[in-house]
Amino acid sequence: MHKPNQVLLKDDIRVGADLAAWLSRGGGKGLAKALREPDAVIPEIDRAGLRGMGGAGFPTHRKWAPVAAAPEGDKYVICNGNEDEPGTFKDRFLLEHTPHQVIEGALIAAVATRANHVVLYVNPNEARALSVVRKAAGQWREHEYFSTLEAFLGGPLSLSVVPSSGLYIGGEETAVIATVEGGFPFPRRKPPFPAEHGVRGSPTIVNNTETLAHLPGILGNGAAWYCGLGLGDASGTKLYSLSGDVLRPGLYELPMGTSLQELVFEHGAGMLQGKEFKAVFTGGPSNTLLTRGDLDVPLDFDSVRQRRSRLGTGAMIVVSEGTSIVRKVAEYVSFFAQGSCGQCPPCKSGTFQLARVLNRIDTGRGVRSDLDALANLCNLLPGSGRCGLIDGAATVVESSLHHFGHEYEALLMG
Ligand code: NAD
Repeated sequence: MHKPNQVLLKDDIRVGADLAAWLSRGGGKGLAKALREPDAVIPEIDRAGLRGMGGAGFPTHRKWAPVAAAPEGDKYVICNGNEDEPGTFKDRFLLEHTPHQVIEGALIAAVATRANHVVLYVNPNEARALSVVRKAAGQWREHEYFSTLEAFLGGPLSLSVVPSSGLYIGGEETAVIATVEGGFPFPRRKPPFPAEHGVRGSPTIVNNTETLAHLPGILGNGAAWYCGLGLGDASGTKLYSLSGDVLRPGLYELPMGTSLQELVFEHGAGMLQGKEFKAVFTGGPSNTLLTRGDLDVPLDFDSVRQRRSRLGTGAMIVVSEGTSIVRKVAEYVSFFAQGSCGQCPPCKSGTFQLARVLNRIDTGRGVRSDLDALANLCNLLPGSGRCGLIDGAATVVESSLHHFGHEYEALLMG
């Protein structure tokens, strides 16, 4: 088995809220480098090829550049730790076990963009992560580093912890901004992107927790080191949340670009006894399914895109022959229907309709016209909401109909 080169999950840096331990084990090097050469940070992140680990894989340096270029004034860096989609369980681990790695990453972003507000946005349903982050943030505020940062910024720096609503939709970046402003997590239309118009109209970076956790390593060891950790054209490492019908589910840090085959059959120890691999929901389960013919796909943003799916957060929910795809899709779409914020009627009623029809088919009450209704909804709904929730729900239904239409057919009445 390929021995992974761990960076984020190394045993010796799982020090929790112990800043002295973090600094004595190599922490702080990246931030020190950023303070020495603040204008070199964004080009270094560009060379490292760092991309957003919250699902979209957007190049991090491109998200930061407009914030750095904005005139002086209030600017925000938000660490998005809401993480609430099925199958994703990486950010809570980082926040609980290596919070200083994440906070240092957010402070590096603040230095690079001259942001004077850093917000750690954490899901309160992860009570332990929230309490560790609160303690860890307090340690940074008391540390001499903080006055160095304020001197660099030429004014006060606020480092705050904001509990999210705990709702799924609260992780969408404009909903994050609405919450930080004190409102209900209603997503807003984009553009304008948060980088231009974020918290109270100020330039704002919303980065996923894992994205920020990569920064101390990149700055401390250099972009070339980071690129070398990946396979093929991919750079760095990735946290893969592996679950479903495998013998060894869990959180794996592997080189970006590790194949699905290796993740499932080597690290995950293969399928549960007597089971055959059938498919993988990637994402969270809001993308096109990967099937047996995709086992060779390198799990990086571009390679998965070439198979018309998405790497998403790196969540891989493995399904075996004998497990009903229809039931899984019905469960996930019910989750999306419950998670819809209700602002956009097509999303509110569309997810509800999808869930209702899927549930009818799954329970053996479906008729042929239900398949037409699903196909019709999948055609009508994408693009009709102000955020991507409805698109994700429609994508997973459409993909399951495409690959596993026979499973739907077999469940129809008559
Ligand atoms: P998006 O493609 O609209 O944007 C990705 C990021 O790039 C955003 O932060 C956006 O602000 C930024 N961006 C895009 N263009 C920009 C520009 N020109 N200038 C500056 N910044 C720019 O995607 P999104 O709606 O933020 O996220 C969608 C993804 O989220 C999906 O791929 C899905 O997999 C994932 N997702 C994640 C979770 C989770 O719990 N982590 C839940 C649901 C969905």
